[in-house]
Amino acid sequence: MSHTPDEPPPGPDPHRTAVLRSHVREAARELREAGLEIDRDPTAIDRHLHLAAVDIMRRCTVPVEYLAEPVRAGGHTFDMSSCLEHTITIEELSYGDAGFMLACPGPLMSGVAVSALGDDKQRHAYYQRLAGPDPVWTFFGLTEPEKGSAATELETALTPDGDGFRLDGAKAYVGNAAYAQLGVVFCRRAPGPLGIEAVLVDTSSPGFHAEPIPTVGMRGARISAITLRDVRVEREQILGYDTLKPTRRGLVGAIRTLQRFRPVLAGTAVGLARAVLDHVREQRPAPTGTARLRYEEVRDRLAAVRRRNYEVAAAIDAGSVRADRIAAVKTRAAELAEEATVVAAELLGPGALAADPYLNKLHRDARAFEFMEGTGHIQRLAVFQGVVKRTFLA
Ligand SMILES: Cc1cc2nc3c(=O)[nH]c(=O)nc-3n(C[C@H](O)[C@H](O)[C@H](O)COP(=O)(O)OP(=O)(O)OC[C@H]3O[C@@H](n4cnc5c(N)ncnc54)[C@H](O)[C@@H]3O)c2cc1C
Repeated sequence: MSHTPDEPPPGPDPHRTAVLRSHVREAARELREAGLEIDRDPTAIDRHLHLAAVDIMRRCTVPVEYLAEPVRAGGHTFDMSSCLEHTITIEELSYGDAGFMLACPGPLMSGVAVSALGDDKQRHAYYQRLAGPDPVWTFFGLTEPEKGSAATELETALTPDGDGFRLDGAKAYVGNAAYAQLGVVFCRRAPGPLGIEAVLVDTSSPGFHAEPIPTVGMRGARISAITLRDVRVEREQILGYDTLKPTRRGLVGAIRTLQRFRPVLAGTAVGLARAVLDHVREQRPAPTGTARLRYEEVRDRLAAVRRRNYEVAAAIDAGSVRADRIAAVKTRAAELAEEATVVAAELLGPGALAADPYLNKLHRDARAFEFMEGTGHIQRLAVFQGVVKRTFLA
């Protein structure tokens, strides 16, 4: 299916990652039509829950001990706790369809927060629920309407109330929140960055309300607005409350989750960009002259970003979390995904965006990467700090 050149991903066991890649690639084959359907009606995911890709997303990052049937291929078992394996999985599913992948049930970002911050009991309860027979959608509620990129200034309040707490505030642009059964809400128990907590919230709790926000692209992400009014929170719902010092809780979890997830998101952008370029090759197999050069230039830069993303993800697995490099690869991948759709529109000729529903969808979907997991400006600030500290190119 893929025409974009492959190379063995880095990491301690390239054979293992190559096995995973071809396993997920196989599952992603059936997502193109389903992705277009989800673009028209994001709730259509309910009609595709039998697909192998949904199964992979449901089990992705759930520890194997909770699963009756973990993801297995070529004699290996995968739980995607490795950032590299998670990145490869998401890239391949996004090559199939990024919107479909984001509409799937499963832990997505909330799982990384629970795993980073939750105590044994909290992790157990969360994963048991995710591994149960019914599909469970989750959300990761960080962004607020007036505090997008300034996440450390969030205002959603966690106030002591009797022997527990209550939660009041609003969140914006939160993937799947209007359809989810549970998720993580970042909130403030005290002033300052260290007063932030991460709380596990059941969406059936009285006072929790979420509704979809209409979008033109990446409609599978089903971004939603949440309002929280007097939502009762028990102390057991605060991630790490009994096991971690306040300085190691909420904010640390948000940062760790975002950093761990950025190569995964870059993988989403790379997968979509590969899909765009392969679509161009199918529609115009033998471009010549400037058109060919333009295509090859984007293809080669994409191959370089993809390789770099694998390296960054493998470095995270090896314990080296370099915020500047993570930020750089996320920005480049997001930019290239957008550029690939622009180049595709040029190469496929006037009217292609209107006449070709698949290209039209990819063109709209690719715009989301700029905002997801931090805008380009914020990422460039992280790169700038790395340049000033002389760590970026070291
Ligand atoms: C498809 C999609 C899914 C999403 N899913 C989730 C989710 O699941 N959970 C969640 O919590 N959020 C989610 N988001 C929200 C996303 O994280 C935010 O869009 C992002 O944090 C930016 O916030 P904002 O849109 O309010 O923009 P703002 O922060 O208001 O930024 C607007 C502009 O100002 C610039 N800017 C802001 N601050 C600075 C600064 N200090 N210096 C320089 N420039 C600056 C930005 O770069 C941007 O260009 C999602 C968004 C999208 C598009």
